[in-house]
Amino acid sequence: MKILVINCGSSSLKYQLIDMTTKTNISIGLVERIGLEGAILTHRTASGEKEVITAEIPDHTAAIGLVLKALVDPKYGAVKELKEIYAVGHRVLHGGHKFSASVIVDDAVMEAIVECIPLGPLHNPPNIAGIEACQKLMPGVSQVAVFDTAFHQTMPDYAYMYGLPYELYEKYKIRRYGFHGTSHKYVSQRAAVLLEKPPEDLKLISCHLGNGSSITAIRGGKCIETSMGFTPLAGLLMGTRCGDLDPAIVAYVMGKENIGIDQINDYMNKKCGVLGVSGVSSDFRDVEAAANLGNDRARLALDIFVHDVRKYIGAYAAAMDGVDAIIFTAGVGENSASMRAAICDKMSYIGVSLDQEKNKTRGQELDISEINSACKVLVIPTNEELMIAVDTLELTR
Ligand code: AMP
Repeated sequence: MKILVINCGSSSLKYQLIDMTTKTNISIGLVERIGLEGAILTHRTASGEKEVITAEIPDHTAAIGLVLKALVDPKYGAVKELKEIYAVGHRVLHGGHKFSASVIVDDAVMEAIVECIPLGPLHNPPNIAGIEACQKLMPGVSQVAVFDTAFHQTMPDYAYMYGLPYELYEKYKIRRYGFHGTSHKYVSQRAAVLLEKPPEDLKLISCHLGNGSSITAIRGGKCIETSMGFTPLAGLLMGTRCGDLDPAIVAYVMGKENIGIDQINDYMNKKCGVLGVSGVSSDFRDVEAAANLGNDRARLALDIFVHDVRKYIGAYAAAMDGVDAIIFTAGVGENSASMRAAICDKMSYIGVSLDQEKNKTRGQELDISEINSACKVLVIPTNEELMIAVDTLELTR
């Protein structure tokens, strides 16, 4: 059975066609510059061969039309006819408080996703466009929405409410939602498999450390706390996002720099974080390289990041009354041995003992703690697309 996974951005679209028998992707691709001049589709076959297609792609319907055409292309396609695609899973950023799991899309679901646009103004509209395009071009094929926020809906109220007047929650639904839920869910499930224990018996801290980063406390298979908040701006300092701040700073900077709401939002999302502190780059590889060459601001950016991650791990171990395993995933978590070593340094208070040799691993599932480490440390490459496909198949079968 084959499931198509779609992840729509405002001017881009990523897709994977996954064979659910082998749980491997048989086609993968990216459409860029949707609605702009010079639109391009880069399609890769299972064997990695690349096909670049340029065309006019005015909107998401045209983009999906082109993707479907590529998937059935006799030369580089993956299926003979579209009928072979059993269902489509869509990544949707924000499901608000309405969705605590993935759902088959119907009119009521679409309405609810539209209602969440104010909470995810940059992402939900293209996500909706992608679903509508597939509904139009693949009539009769089930569409499933998989929300970044859904896994975090199990947080207790005292973890998701802010210290604001309650009316703001009632009027505007201001609360912590959390993001990267599909990734945290996937790696926590894999951790249970690796540790050979049922998820119900485990206390896990999942560290998704990439360009965007978040940490989640998972007890008994359920999220009880996460570092991102009302938006993906909160929590750790990230590639270009500031993470947690004293909220008074926002008004102070707006006054001092004489800037408005859109500008401060843009500033906090795109000019801060590791980029803002280091002045070098938002890319951790560049910043690590600069720090190794003696750039002190690059060193400082990495030190803040490591310090933030360690604080969250400590806080979440406290919130769960212990931790059985810490999981590292995403670009930095999967690949950077030096960041993992710095984060896990002096963590004997929760029983972490890192195996420095095993920690050299990159991009593969591995327990990198010493055999007698009371708290295990796992590297688990995330696979959000597979998680979306698994949910899609489960719901539609
Ligand atoms: P992601 O958002 O998960 O794609 O992660 C992107 C981030 O991972 C970028 O900042 C990359 O610099 C970082 N990254 C990827 N490979 C490495 C590596 N080998 N060492 C350090 N950072 C890495």
